[in-house]
This record gives sequence, structure tokens and C-alpha cells, in this order.
Amino acid sequence: MSYRLDKLRNVLKERELDALLVSTSENRRYLSGFHGSAGHLLVSAEGAFLATDFRYVEQAAHQAPEFQVLKVGGGWSWLMDLLRDAGLKKVGFESHQVTVSTYQQMTEAARELSTAEQPSLVATASIVEEIRTVKDGGELELIQRAVDVADAAMDSVTPTVRAGQTEQEVAWRLELAMREMGAESVSFETIVAAGPNGAMPHHRPSERVIQEGEPVVIDMGAKVDGYCSDITRTICVGEEDETFRRIYDIVLGSQLTAIATVTPGHTGGDADDLSRVVISEAGYGENFGHSLGHGIGMAVHEFPRVGPKSDHPLSEGMVFTVEPGIYLSGWGGVRIEDMVILESTGAKVLSKARK
Ligand code: ZN
Ligand code: ZN
Repeated sequence: MSYRLDKLRNVLKERELDALLVSTSENRRYLSGFHGSAGHLLVSAEGAFLATDFRYVEQAAHQAPEFQVLKVGGGWSWLMDLLRDAGLKKVGFESHQVTVSTYQQMTEAARELSTAEQPSLVATASIVEEIRTVKDGGELELIQRAVDVADAAMDSVTPTVRAGQTEQEVAWRLELAMREMGAESVSFETIVAAGPNGAMPHHRPSERVIQEGEPVVIDMGAKVDGYCSDITRTICVGEEDETFRRIYDIVLGSQLTAIATVTPGHTGGDADDLSRVVISEAGYGENFGHSLGHGIGMAVHEFPRVGPKSDHPLSEGMVFTVEPGIYLSGWGGVRIEDMVILESTGAKVLSKARK
């Protein structure tokens, strides 16, 4: 983990921050190795502290050997004591994670110190999330395992989907298969959307019975050792109609185009354009209402942003999804999603499930 701390320390230096208080669970785990559900890190040029409550102290000492573990109760006096003792004045906090009331509690605790000792608390956004966009070797291994589990579940369950089964039943079989193959959990709620339900990209599986000839959108992912996968396949139960064939070909063409042409140096917006133009030229631009994809790693949705107007630069080592779709109200939808890693020469697809 120490090179991750080095990266963070470089950013702190650039931003002229003496320390960063890390409160987001994925960031905490990424930097320290600690899996527990409660705690904060304080990282400065010299120090690395992990403050957690009595439930996690032992676990924290095991999982985060590079951190000095502090057992703390409620309140923020521990933080103020630490800042005062180490002479840290300009301290960033994660504004996307800390609530207004927590911030107020922190400033009240700071007022307990003498005026000369009071730190200034600086709102920061996504410092560690930006570092997390480029994956290292250990992360890639875990991501690939999460992808493999979802692929295997998809390939084992989709051939068994029949008319007469409900969306919920299919979702459960997919989740069961992922767990049996080693997933610690699903990475998000499985989506099975049959027929007209498929026109809603985030439909929740219902009691709806799948009918002969309907498109079924299946979007799911596994979590393995803290890392997520995310894959979508659209199948047709029984004989597919002409609409299915036409829409499927356009979406697949759009997806393969983006995968074949995206390259380091593009922005997330450029990548989105590569795919969107294919769908627009086919006359379905209005029916592709969401972003092309999203970064993925410890969180199922993370940086880089891969969507219209995203100026997030894409660089080597970033992992993101490519998932164009076309949605026709009353008929259904087709979405095809794979995860890719960006290499120096372009995107390499991580998922292998049939499409
Ligand atoms: Zn998905
Ligand atoms: Zn996705």
C-alpha cells in the first residue's frame, strides 16, 4: 500500500495540504487495507493514522500494518489532538462524504483548541478517487476474478432462460450462480428486464412472466475481494423478431466501434461520441439516453466519467465499462456492456461472456 500513500502524499504537496482526512470506505480500504465499515484515516507527509472504534481495533491492526491505529469513541477531539500534536494546520476533508452536521461537529471540536492551534478544514473533492482511476496489478487481478465470476454465471444461466419464468426467478438464479462461483456478494442489484420493461434501463426484477419472443436485458455484477464487475447481455427468448435483430446489430456495432477506437488521450466524452455516432446515424440517437459507461473498481460507479461532455482524460490502466443501449417504449431495450482496460494501444476487453 505504501506506493498508494506516496501518490496521495504527492497530491497533498501539490495542493499545499498538510494532511487529508479520509472518510469514504473504499478510499479507506484502498489506502490502508482495512476492510471495516467504520473509521477515518489521517494521512500527512509523515504520518498515517487509522482511527476506529473498539469493534475494529484488532482487525485494523492486522489489515493496516502501515497505519498507527487509534481507538476512538464518538466526537472529534482525537482528530484535534492529533493535528495539534503534529502541528498540522491545513487539513483537507472529503466534502462528498462528510455531512454538514459532521462538518459542524468538527469545527466545534476545533474551537476547543486555542486560536493559534486551530486547524483550517479545507473541503476537497475526490482526491483519492482520482488516484484510484488507474489500477495496479493487484487490483487488476481481483477485477478479472470478479469479471470471470459474472461471465461464468451469465453463460451458465442465460441458456436456461425460458418463457414462463419470472424476472425475479432469473435474477435469483444469476445471483446464486455468482455466489457459488466465489462472489462475496453482488456488486449491485441484478437487473432482469423482459419485454417492455427493458425500455427502462434500471428496471428492478418483478413478478412479470417472460413471454416467447421477448428481449430480456440482464445486467449484473459480482464482488470479489472488494472489487466489482458489471456486465450486460440482452437475449431473446424463443424466436427473435426483426426489430430485435436490427436493434441488436446497431447496439453491438456501436459498442465494438467504441472498443476498437478508444485510446489513451481521449476524454470520456470522446469515447462516448465514438459509440453514440453509430446509434445516431442509424436513427436511434434519441433512444440512447444514458452515458456510454463508467469507471469501475472498488465501487461499481467511479471515475473516470465516460459520458457526453465528460472532459475526464482517459489514460493507460483505467478500467471502465462500454455499454450503449437502445430503448423503445412499449417494445423493450437492448444493452450490451463489457468492461475494458485501457492499454497503450487501446482498449482490451476483460469480459468473455457470449454475445
Ligand atoms: Zn451494468
Ligand atoms: Zn455499468
